[in-house]
Amino acid sequence: MKRNLVLLGPPGAGKGTVAQRLASERGLLHLSTGDVLRDEVARATALGQRAKDYMDRGELVPDELILSMVKERVEGRSGILFDGFPRTLAQAEGLEKIAPIDAVIFLEVDKDTVVSRLSARRICPQCGAVYNLVTQPPKEDERCDQCGTKLIQRDDDKPEVIARRFEVYMRQSAPLARYYEKKGLLIRIDAGRSPEEVYAAALRALRDDRP
Ligand code: AMP
Repeated sequence: MKRNLVLLGPPGAGKGTVAQRLASERGLLHLSTGDVLRDEVARATALGQRAKDYMDRGELVPDELILSMVKERVEGRSGILFDGFPRTLAQAEGLEKIAPIDAVIFLEVDKDTVVSRLSARRICPQCGAVYNLVTQPPKEDERCDQCGTKLIQRDDDKPEVIARRFEVYMRQSAPLARYYEKKGLLIRIDAGRSPEEVYAAALRALRDDRP
């Protein structure tokens, strides 16, 4: 049975980058609630329409919407890598009823690093590839290396929203580290390093974590 993992950490910690590699190398289902919500917003579904205002403000989408969205996608499956979920204690408690969690990788990084990473982040609206104009720029002037589409900045990566998202994280999501620590599931990783170093540290920690 494949393990179920959670990636925890502030916006800009590198959760998505670690998740994409880990999921493809280990054959896990990568479930990013942020990606699912952005897709729902783009398709203007009922859920997308309800979620959009919260996302634009950098606030959390209500727990019951998130929990039913997750439940629908993972029920009865194993080998899931949760990225950006849970984000509140209520979501963590709800998750216990949906899927057992085997380990939680906590990507720790300070606020200044988050702000500078998110300000430089650009994404491909077509294929979802993520770039950083300073540390991982695309080869050609703000175009996606994979599909050539012009890169964009996420609306919520604009400076006023970044500050709000970090505040929301500190208030609502940071307490989850303690919650999972008490359960003996938390693996702390210093995420202030390069993507390669962070990924290598996460792999090592997962290997050591397993008897
Ligand atoms: P992310 O891509 O993970 O940074 O998420 C972008 C936005 O989607 C967040 O700022 C929230 O508005 C919303 N969101 C994503 N995941 C969750 C979640 N688990 N609970 C509540 N809101 C979420």
